Amino acid sequence: MAGKKYNTPLIDDLEKGPWPSFVTEMKKAAKKSEMSNDALGHLEKCYATKKGYWKHGGIVGVLGYGGGVIGRYSELGDEFPGVAHFHTVRINQPSAFFYTGKALKEICDIWDKYGSGLTNVHGSTGDLVLLGTKTEHLENIFAEYSSRGWDLGGSGSALRTPSCCVGPARCEWSNYDTLDLTYNLTQEFQDELHRPSFSYKFKIKSSGCACDCVAALARADLSIIGTWKGDIKIDQAEVKNYAKTMDIKAEIVDMCPTQCISYDGKEMKINNKECSRCMHCITKMTKALRPSGERGATLCMGSKAPIVVGSLLSWVIVPFVKLEAPYTELKDLLRKIWDWWDENGKPRERIGEVIEIKGMRSFLEAIGVAPQPQQVKEPRKDPFMFYTDEDMAGFKAKEAEEKKTGKYKF
Ligand code: SF4
Repeated sequence: MAGKKYNTPLIDDLEKGPWPSFVTEMKKAAKKSEMSNDALGHLEKCYATKKGYWKHGGIVGVLGYGGGVIGRYSELGDEFPGVAHFHTVRINQPSAFFYTGKALKEICDIWDKYGSGLTNVHGSTGDLVLLGTKTEHLENIFAEYSSRGWDLGGSGSALRTPSCCVGPARCEWSNYDTLDLTYNLTQEFQDELHRPSFSYKFKIKSSGCACDCVAALARADLSIIGTWKGDIKIDQAEVKNYAKTMDIKAEIVDMCPTQCISYDGKEMKINNKECSRCMHCITKMTKALRPSGERGATLCMGSKAPIVVGSLLSWVIVPFVKLEAPYTELKDLLRKIWDWWDENGKPRERIGEVIEIKGMRSFLEAIGVAPQPQQVKEPRKDPFMFYTDEDMAGFKAKEAEEKKTGKYKF
């Protein structure tokens, strides 16, 4: 490729050390692409001057879609014409990032034709991200990808592309079919994904168990975490085998967050009523411990990185829900959640922030979810548990009935 050869001592430094370097990859792409070559020179200048030159240049996109392409322009278009436009295209990834080699080659061949050749597999939203193309290529890119069955992902104030862990495809601990749920929600909410109509972004991430391999709890407005209802089954013979190679007290008993495991050197016991289904003991003793009973998920809401208020972790709203196609209960709940957010959120307020501002109590009332002990995030501080006169009358009637039948325990 004929192109200007840039002197890049500062970013060359990033090629040193034991890790793969994005600079090395950019240099490979620069051999074939003027855009990548100019991106190298541009990056060196940013480092040398300690200044970012990317600017907001208005909305770019493709016909019929409000999102999926993120506009990038450089202030230094005259000096680095290859990055004068450098738009990012988001491709909706398959559930749990399963691609065939043929599919990846297809994506890359189209991208080499119209873009810089640089990709980010995957961005933190989940999409396969293509970095750097010009406005005039966008419709052609969209036409070529969509004719082969690919679609753009979400961007802007829209539903962002739902993403999930590998689920039952490769993991025996998954409590529901994360892949099917993600695909199903993606198909159901195409409008919300492609036509930004929310106050701000809304992310859905699904993990099959509390190991939470997609970090849903920390970075999704709706975090769907697999869980189970029954006891943890214990194979005592396997516990004995583990005792030969690990300190069960230090590594399991003392690490249990609810202190519900005991081990006397011979037998392990779990007080399942106190277990929070965190998965720690199970992942450490996979052969000895196994969940049982009904499987489903806990729905948590509101995690995000800091912008309006500080960063938030998701908060339990529904302790247990069965997740089976067509997921009607979950979809109906989501629509109610979005309606409430639409009514109450200001522009650029994530739903977690609106819940913080308006209160969990009014949020739960609006979406028709009853207050439950599992929703209490900070005991003695959460102010949303209020009992109505009707609730109290119900408790009193139940208590009287239990006293009559001898079932009353307190
Ligand atoms: Fe304790 Fe977590 Fe194991 Fe439950 S799953 S027993 S909370 S370590």
